[in-house]
Amino acid sequence: MDKNSILRQLPKMDTLLEESCLDVLGKSIRANVAKVVLDNIRSDILSDLLTVVPSNDEILSQILKLGQLQARGLQRVINATGIVLHTNLGRAPLAENVARYAAEMSLSYSTLEFDLETGGRGSRMAGLEAQLTNLTGAEAALAVNNNAAAVLLVLSALCAGGEVVVSRGELVEIGGSFRVPEVIAQGGAILREVGATNSARLSDYENVIGDNTSALLKVHTSNYRIEGFTKEVDLAQLRDLAQKHNLPLIYDLGGGALIDLSHHEPTVQNLIAGGVDVLCFSGDKLLGGPQAGIILGKADLIAKMRKHPLYRALRMDKLTLAALSATLEIYEDLDEARERIPVLAMLTVTLDKLGEKAKQLYQMLSNVRNCHIEIVETMSQAGGGSLPCENFPSYAISLMPAKMSVSDLAEKLRGLYLPIIGRIHKDRLLLDVRTVDTSDFNNIAWDLQEILGN
Ligand SMILES: *Cc1c(COP(=O)(O)O)cnc(C)c1O
Repeated sequence: MDKNSILRQLPKMDTLLEESCLDVLGKSIRANVAKVVLDNIRSDILSDLLTVVPSNDEILSQILKLGQLQARGLQRVINATGIVLHTNLGRAPLAENVARYAAEMSLSYSTLEFDLETGGRGSRMAGLEAQLTNLTGAEAALAVNNNAAAVLLVLSALCAGGEVVVSRGELVEIGGSFRVPEVIAQGGAILREVGATNSARLSDYENVIGDNTSALLKVHTSNYRIEGFTKEVDLAQLRDLAQKHNLPLIYDLGGGALIDLSHHEPTVQNLIAGGVDVLCFSGDKLLGGPQAGIILGKADLIAKMRKHPLYRALRMDKLTLAALSATLEIYEDLDEARERIPVLAMLTVTLDKLGEKAKQLYQMLSNVRNCHIEIVETMSQAGGGSLPCENFPSYAISLMPAKMSVSDLAEKLRGLYLPIIGRIHKDRLLLDVRTVDTSDFNNIAWDLQEILGN
């Protein structure tokens, strides 16, 4: 039978949508998913991957399966982009025991705000604060929902009504909606810019400090770097200046590495030891934990934040608290952290190991037809606005399909039950093995055989 006659046997979309078994799906999801499923079948017929139209029952079950997945808030995906902290894919995957502990704490009641000794109300932050201060050397600590919330709370509690002095080279935008000048305004403070885009001197800061100055703010330019003729004031000089005028030195670090990953990324412990009064960073960037904003600093300043009404609105929930606490526990042994925290393991794995991983996946693809497959060298990224100029050499499986376009292949992989997200580069689809767990290799091999033919 020719392809057009086969295509004519496909059920009509409207007829399918009337089937009562699809009533469990919302109206718009039902229509969207039915279209995806029919489109897939149509393109499989056109590319000879299918020679008969699947039964109505089979089509309906495909629509149901995909629809039920999409009706949920989240779907698991395989990240083959090589971007370790992929913000759109959920940044840091958690270590296994971390996720298990969070699940356990959520399945029952817990001591979230209960003191077992007195039988009365306890502090939500007590345990976490002890962990954070022990690990970092800070006097006190507080945690909120994310780092954007942390910066907002710091500014609102310490700087409202006053001027915040920032270098013009550090007026950062992160991910579209977090912009330092706007957050300062939202915190009720007044931005006082100093220096130029590429240079700020100590005297620039000194000249603007006055009666209305409430803090010096340093922002880590975590997602870009200015190169060429640049001048930045030493942290020690800034600290001395802040102390001389009795002002807090606030540092928005963004990344929050507790382990030395690169000379461009200062560690949290070094900054605290260097005299930063308030330091805040994300829980789900280089720390490798859940989404959170961690604030470290002098006890009197942290106390002001804890008492601020915004804190109640931004406070962390018990699932996150459990996950963050279990993540920090791993850091008690830094070598163990490097191995067991997925983000750190992915960022520090050797090129040799990545080569072996690529070879393993390549061999599992030996049955895949209609596609030129090879192992290629590539560059992974830290992502999440972290370590922007750092190179992470890696290996990828490069796919050049013979009977469909690269973008069609990418789309089909995204449409899978367990979607595989790759990266298109020079008309090939690359699957970077750095961010793929070997336990997913079987899935990838099987799906590629299904899509491309064997
Ligand atoms: C990422 C980042 C933020 C925002 O942190 P979230 O945890 O995403 O809210 C703020 N400041 C800097 C410097 C950052 O790198």
